[in-house]
Amino acid sequence: MDSTIMDYELTIKSIFWRIEKLYGNRTIVSRFSSTRKTYTYSEFAQRVRKTITFLRQNDLAGKNVASVAWNTSRHLELYFAVPLTGGVLHTVNVRFHPSEMEYVIREMQDSGVFMDEDIQATFNVKTFKFNQDYDEIVDSLTPASELPDLQERSGAVSCFTSGTTGKPKGVIYSHRSIFIHSLSLLAGDVLGLSSSDVVMDVVPMFHISGWDIPFASLMTGAKLVLPGIRPRPRDLVELIREEGVTVAAGAPTVWIDVMNYVEKEGEDLGKLRTVVMGGAEPPRGLMERMRKVGVRTYHAWGMTETEAIATVNRSEDLDALTKQGYPIFGFEIALLDPEGKELPWDGKTVGELAVRGAFVTGRYFKGDRTFTWFRTGDVATVDPDGNVKVVDRQKDLIKSGGEWISSVQLENAIMSFNKVLEAVVVGVPHERWGERPVALVVTREPTSPQEIVDYLKSLRAFPDWWIPDRIVFVDSIPKTSTGKLDKKVVREEVKKLLQIP
Ligand code: AMP
Repeated sequence: MDSTIMDYELTIKSIFWRIEKLYGNRTIVSRFSSTRKTYTYSEFAQRVRKTITFLRQNDLAGKNVASVAWNTSRHLELYFAVPLTGGVLHTVNVRFHPSEMEYVIREMQDSGVFMDEDIQATFNVKTFKFNQDYDEIVDSLTPASELPDLQERSGAVSCFTSGTTGKPKGVIYSHRSIFIHSLSLLAGDVLGLSSSDVVMDVVPMFHISGWDIPFASLMTGAKLVLPGIRPRPRDLVELIREEGVTVAAGAPTVWIDVMNYVEKEGEDLGKLRTVVMGGAEPPRGLMERMRKVGVRTYHAWGMTETEAIATVNRSEDLDALTKQGYPIFGFEIALLDPEGKELPWDGKTVGELAVRGAFVTGRYFKGDRTFTWFRTGDVATVDPDGNVKVVDRQKDLIKSGGEWISSVQLENAIMSFNKVLEAVVVGVPHERWGERPVALVVTREPTSPQEIVDYLKSLRAFPDWWIPDRIVFVDSIPKTSTGKLDKKVVREEVKKLLQIP
C-alpha cells in the first residue's frame, strides 16, 4: 500500500529555504588574500539569487558549470546558485595539471568556468575570474525571485577522482545524496554539528564538496569559516582564534603543518575543540600533540565515490582512534574475498571493503558498469561491532616471499617515532623475495636508519622481516593533488635513488 506522505524532493532548494527563512542573521566568514569578508546568511542568499541572474544572463542556467576555486564565499555562492537553476557545479581540482583540467571540463561538457585569480589556465569555454569586477557585476544585478522545481535524483555537484591510477573518473552527486549525506553528518554520533558551532572547512571545496561540510553547516545555522586561497598554517591559526572556531575539518597533512607552527610559535588554538581528519590515516603522534593543546580528533574515512565521510571514529582512546570507524547513517559495508564472497567481521580476517548506500556512486560518469556494491580497493578488517580498520590500498600492499606486508602499517609505525615527521613505504622488485619494502623518511630531529630499525623492532608490532631493507632520508615526500602520499611518484623516485631499472 502506498504511503500518504506528500511528495517532497530532498534538494538543495530545501537547504536554501532554511538559510533564507530561519538563519538570516547567522554569519559566513571568507578569507581573501588581504581581507576577510563577513556577511549574514541573508546577504549570502541575496548574492546566490543575484548569481542565478548572472548565470541566466550568460546562458549558463541549468547547464554544467565548472569552478576551479578555493574555499571562498564566491565559490560557496556557486555551490547553491548552479544547482538551484537545475545545473551541475563541476568542482575542478586546482592542483590538476592544466591539461587534466581541460580534459575533465571537456568530459563534463561544461558551458562555463569560474576560477580564482591565482589559477593559470585557459579554456575553450566562457571563463569568469573571481575578482572585484566579478563581485561588482553580481552585486549590481536583480536577485532572481523564481526558482525552478528540482528533482532529487538529478545531478547537483560533480567531482573527478584524482586519477592516480589512470584518467580521472567523474562522479555526479545528486541533490538527494547531498541532502542525505549532509544530514548524516549532523547526527550526534557523527560530527554532531549544531547552530552553536563555528565550523572551519579546510577540506578543499574543489574535492568532494569539501566533504559536504559547507552544506551541513548551513543546514543547521552554524557560523561557517572559509579559509580562502592557499591558506598557510598562520592564516588558519589566526582564523581559528579570531573567529572562535570550535570544529574544523581537513586532511592530516594540514594539521601536521598547523601543529608544527603552533608548537614553534607557542600559539594557542582558542576555542577549537574538535578536528575531523580523513583522506588518509592521521598519525597517532599527531593526534596526541593535538590532544595536548585541548583538541579532540575524530577520524573519518571516505572517498570520492562515497561522497567523502562514510565511516567515523570518535573514540577517546588514541590507539583505538587509528581505526577508520563505524558506517554512518544510510551507508552499508561488507568485507569481500577476491571472488566476492563475504568474509567474517572478526577484527582479523583481511578483505576488500565493499560499500553501498544513499550517497555511494552507482556508476561513473560515462561509465558502462553499474554498481550494486562498490568495491573500494581498500583492504581492511572489520570488528564484530562494525568498526573498520583500513590496512592498505590493494595496490600498495607489498608481497614479500609470498606474504603480504602492509605499507600503511609500516608508515604509521615509523611515524610514531618521535624523531620522524613523515614516512612513506613502497615495495621494490627483489630477485629472491619478489618485493621488499623501502622507506623514505622526513626527519624532525637527526637520527639514523639503524635507530629507526631498532625502534621498529622494539615495538614488537610485526615480524622482523617486515622491516624495510632501506631507509632513505629525504627533504619532502611527493603528495597527490589531494594531499595523499603519491606512491606512484614515490616508486619512481625510489627506483632512481636505488638505481633500479
Ligand atoms: P579520494 O577519493 O581521493 O578521496 O581517495 C580515497 C581513498 O583515500 C580511500 O579509498 C582510502 O584509500 C584513502 N583514505 C581516505 N580516508 C582514509 C582514512 N581515514 N584512513 C586511511 N585511508 C583513507
